[in-house]
Amino acid sequence: MRKNKTLLFLILLTLGSLACKTLVPGAPPATITPTESSEATSAPPSASDAGSAGLGDSLYPNFGNGGYDVQSYELEIAVNNVATSDLSAVTTIQATATQDLSSFNLDFIGFEIASITVNDQEAEFERAGQELTITPVQALTDQQTFTVRVEYAGSPESVQSEALPFQTGWITYDQGSYVLSEPDGAASFFPVNDHPLDKALFSFIVTVPKPYEVAANGILTETKDNGATQTFYFSARDPMASYLATINIHDFDIETMQSPNGIEIRNYYAAGLPADIRKPFARQGEMLDYFSGLFGDYPFEVYGALVMDTDFGAALENQTMSIFGMDMIDRDDVTGTELVVAHELGHQWFGDYISVADWSDIWLNEGFASYCEALWIEHTQGASALDEWASHEYQDISEFPQFYPPPGSPTADNLFNGGVYERGGLTLHALRLTIGDEAFFKTLQTYVQRYGGGNASTQDFISVAEEISGQDLTDFFQGWLYAEKPPELP
Ligand SMILES: [Zn+2]
Repeated sequence: MRKNKTLLFLILLTLGSLACKTLVPGAPPATITPTESSEATSAPPSASDAGSAGLGDSLYPNFGNGGYDVQSYELEIAVNNVATSDLSAVTTIQATATQDLSSFNLDFIGFEIASITVNDQEAEFERAGQELTITPVQALTDQQTFTVRVEYAGSPESVQSEALPFQTGWITYDQGSYVLSEPDGAASFFPVNDHPLDKALFSFIVTVPKPYEVAANGILTETKDNGATQTFYFSARDPMASYLATINIHDFDIETMQSPNGIEIRNYYAAGLPADIRKPFARQGEMLDYFSGLFGDYPFEVYGALVMDTDFGAALENQTMSIFGMDMIDRDDVTGTELVVAHELGHQWFGDYISVADWSDIWLNEGFASYCEALWIEHTQGASALDEWASHEYQDISEFPQFYPPPGSPTADNLFNGGVYERGGLTLHALRLTIGDEAFFKTLQTYVQRYGGGNASTQDFISVAEEISGQDLTDFFQGWLYAEKPPELP
């Protein structure tokens, strides 16, 4: 994610007043009421076999759920009214139990649930906050694969995350709707195991009234004309963290191209946007190829940008389709806006292909994407421009330390603080100056190779850097990631 800098300061300044409204991490999990009787004939479920209501994240212990691993989501959504996002939907989840399960939870907010089946049998469920607890007729056994089908209707309610002071999830506005889910907005439009630890494949079957169109992750495999409506089939065939799942509705102008090395690009622009809004995206192909050379091949089957015709002060690296608020694009500053484009594109490796194991590792996303901006500056403007970037950033973090806390220990109510971006990016620059270019880029490549498609922790990255450089970097990372005052740049 990249926020508008003005907004970032507003956010930081308003956090004090928001703190009282935030939820307390570690709040008790939703109560699970055992059913009085069970039709199960063997191994009757016991309360101790209930899947946990959280995945134990250090900042957000209730995000996600325990006891199973999702392989795929299919979201079949018919939007009946775009102005209100009134929709009828069926989400089908293929999962594997990782323990015996008498019941398990999904994260889901709002809507009227018509029915839930587990392996085609009607299941009981109850809801408490965002926890949806499902009790199948037949208890599930460890390693059993199962299918959950949830049928629901209504209008999505956007989510006030405890992590940041603006609404996330499915957002409806005058001209259509878009999705901005980091970190916990996905539950606003589908039942989900909402933590990056449980990555899965996604497919989308979305029906909208004409002339509206749909932009979602992955490849558009089919468009079906139903007369007054159209159905769009998208398939995302690489594992994806749930917060990166996106469905956007508008009338779009689609621009397709290829990178010089042949990576497919499709950009979606809300119809009616001025033509020069496209300029900062013209070099995405070059960026994809350049970063592929530095980090390893672009990890997904397609890429592209999505620009909506509304302001939301942010851009987000939705997998294969980064979204940009109109206010993130300065048409008079193409070079500056290209850095936002490079940031979201860099996230495809750092954040999307390698996802955080715990939300406290967020600098592994934002510090790396910020350094991708610096790498683009170096590539396009030369080494002295990179030095200027570094001294400017260093001046920021040392003059205003209150806005740039140590990147390794963000707090639950200020996940996207300036420290995880600027000081996180500088941490990588300092590492490069400490271990040298060769070891630094080999560290990045090894890290991508080893953890791509899955998750990594800060310690995982440190271990790779130490292994490749042959240096003990304990003090280095302690200083840059955790010390109150940032170390001097080497
Ligand atoms: Zn970012």
